[in-house]
Amino acid sequence: MSKHLPRKLTAILYADVAGYSRLTGQDEDRTHQQLSDGLNILTETISAHGGSKVHEAGDAILAEFPSVTAAVDAAIESQKSMIIWPAQEAVIEQVRFRIGIHIGEVIHDRGDIYGDGVNIAARIQEIALPGSFCISSAVYEQLGRGKYNFDDLGYHNFKNIERPVQVYQLRYSELLEAGSEQNFEARVHDQPLFDDTFEMPPITTGRCACGSVKFEITQQSLGTAYCHCRICQRSIGAPVIVWTAFPIDAVKFTHGQPKFYRMSQIAEQGFCENCGSSLIWRRLKPGPANYLVIITTSLDNPEDYAPSWHGGVESQLPWFKIHDDLPRTRSDESPMLKSAWESAGLPDPNDWNELEYEQAALLDNDPELKG
Ligand SMILES: [Zn+2]
Ligand SMILES: [Zn+2]
Repeated sequence: MSKHLPRKLTAILYADVAGYSRLTGQDEDRTHQQLSDGLNILTETISAHGGSKVHEAGDAILAEFPSVTAAVDAAIESQKSMIIWPAQEAVIEQVRFRIGIHIGEVIHDRGDIYGDGVNIAARIQEIALPGSFCISSAVYEQLGRGKYNFDDLGYHNFKNIERPVQVYQLRYSELLEAGSEQNFEARVHDQPLFDDTFEMPPITTGRCACGSVKFEITQQSLGTAYCHCRICQRSIGAPVIVWTAFPIDAVKFTHGQPKFYRMSQIAEQGFCENCGSSLIWRRLKPGPANYLVIITTSLDNPEDYAPSWHGGVESQLPWFKIHDDLPRTRSDESPMLKSAWESAGLPDPNDWNELEYEQAALLDNDPELKG
């Protein structure tokens, strides 16, 4: 039996750029400059929080900290410093780090650290949203409740790691100043990719009024908002709707199926054919969306989904008052809606209307426009 090398308990942070080779293929110089800036920010933040950088390898950094709080604070601060949201374009193209944090025993040797914990931090990093970070349950338990909001991503089996690891992810709202449409678009763009062999239990359920259409949802929501636009008002028969978006793979119909009506050039609405309840919206332009919008009040627990901004406020009815401090956006200010309507050949907001029956039927028969 060989003698065990001395080990030390430490908080391990592993950061790596999401899609680095793809970004390099698009623009080598810009990507390298952003990577270099990002590595500098990480290096400074790590040392400002009492951590030490162990090594850099290409687009990745490994660091250790004397406490999990220091590691988490450093991750939050560096991700906040790297958020740049001048336009949706930047959200797509920018170099963004994923970070994983774990606590475990490591061996210090040859100026590096070794051990299972290092591998776990690197694996946890791989499932984090670009621009955010994930922590193991060991870190979560040490952190103390209430300081930051994390979502439970469940147990994950990682390559070469013996036991499943429970992972928590920081909510984007902790990094962005307030709920906003920009915040929503970021979440939609970067929705986590779950291992499809991993069975997620439903986190919520919903149904139409008569119960002939029922569904369950297996992933966290991407955002909830009011929409005051004319199309929503007319289709739902109420002054305002509240919708909650979920990754498209997260929504499963467990009983019946909604029937769809093409409400506009850019979206269709799913409703119960039997009782008429509105259930979902599906955006068709530009291209099929990777999320579904559920009418929040069709969920069995709508009280858990509070809206974080108002959309379509150009049509807010003068007698319908909601007093809150949430951000308010006109439809023609929404980058998401603008790009959808532009791709449908209708850049002028005055042309953004619901479709009458004959038009909708025509579009539905047009294979090119069917998403
Ligand atoms: Zn029904
Ligand atoms: Zn609307």
